[in-house]
Amino acid sequence: MEPWAGHEVPRLPGRGGPLALYDSARQGLHPSDPADVARMYVCGITPYDATHLGHAATMITFDLVQRVWRDAGRTVRYVQNVTDIDDPLLERAARDGEDWKVLAMRETALFREDMEALRIIPPAHYVGAVESIPDIAEKVQLLLKDGAAYRLDDGTGDVYFDTSASPRFGYESNLSRAEMLEIFPERGGDPDREGKRDPLDPLLWRGAREGEPSWPGGELGAGRPGWHIECAVIALDLLGDRIDVQGGGNDLLFPHHEASAAHAERLTGEAPFAQHYVHAGMIGLDGEKMSKSRGNLVFVSRLRADRVDPMAVRLALLSGHYRSDRTWTDELLTAAQERLARWRQAAAAPAGPSGAELLAGVRARLADDLDSPGALAIADAWAEQALAGTGDDPGAPALFADTVDALLGVRL
Ligand code: ZN
Repeated sequence: MEPWAGHEVPRLPGRGGPLALYDSARQGLHPSDPADVARMYVCGITPYDATHLGHAATMITFDLVQRVWRDAGRTVRYVQNVTDIDDPLLERAARDGEDWKVLAMRETALFREDMEALRIIPPAHYVGAVESIPDIAEKVQLLLKDGAAYRLDDGTGDVYFDTSASPRFGYESNLSRAEMLEIFPERGGDPDREGKRDPLDPLLWRGAREGEPSWPGGELGAGRPGWHIECAVIALDLLGDRIDVQGGGNDLLFPHHEASAAHAERLTGEAPFAQHYVHAGMIGLDGEKMSKSRGNLVFVSRLRADRVDPMAVRLALLSGHYRSDRTWTDELLTAAQERLARWRQAAAAPAGPSGAELLAGVRARLADDLDSPGALAIADAWAEQALAGTGDDPGAPALFADTVDALLGVRL
């Protein structure tokens, strides 16, 4: 699948330092220490609805990771998937009497446009679940042969992962079994499915059903893949056995990332699958979690249609720390629009305070677990002084513009 179009990222003088990131598995801040090629996998959308601000906040988070790594001299190999076949997509298509493929194509196209508008650096590989089915089926067969998976004997052809084959199961989310059992059904799991060895065993392969699309699965028979194995296989195929960052929203902490890691680790014999499991907070609206069931989603495309500058949307989302669940309000957007206007004015000033200090300050804040509010405060202070006529560095306004462009993705 084609990713969206990229854009030129300005080169900054010198080099940024190493990035310390919070790892959900170790529950603490640890330096991300990638080799020359940093490898990142981020879970993409299931394209049954438009990109809302929660998606945007997640994508901006991992865009910052990529920008900070690049600034530190790393080459970044970034892979993102699109779950273009799964239950929610089929359910939405059935509800609206629409062809599921057309729905997926339309929403994926809109997502690409939104990402481009928000100046998200595109992944090197943007991979659909459907195009990965032969690889996924092959890996599920390996897990079956290896005794880490089993087929239900109810004639459905459904194959499940045996979580007892993963002694570390639970290490990524740090949840107790009771917590896992509570969350599992809320996030697509089927603990009560008859014939499973353990309620928490996740689906690897769903046998073909009447009226549902299916694909050949070799010895598995026709069917379609489960979601967790999809991400594990795409990441292993394109990034290798160990990756630096596995990313997504914090609603993917369990079961999605836990199960993906368990699948990948069983397939490769290497652990941990990811050095860092990184999770972005959720975006609520006026104090409530944004969700489809509440019908309170704010779509990026809707804001674009209202002629809101995508750079203001980006700044509004960057004004909170990526790990915190936070709220979207009109005031937040207004403040971001005002900040963007101030920064644009400041970038046009004839001179300002030291550009080198500004750059060092922004680099330091972002290297500290992507402290974007701290980085914005430093840029604000510089802009305020430049607008007041303080400072005599004639190169500073241009460096200011390049710094916020290269490191924060905000083009002035
Ligand atoms: Zn995923």
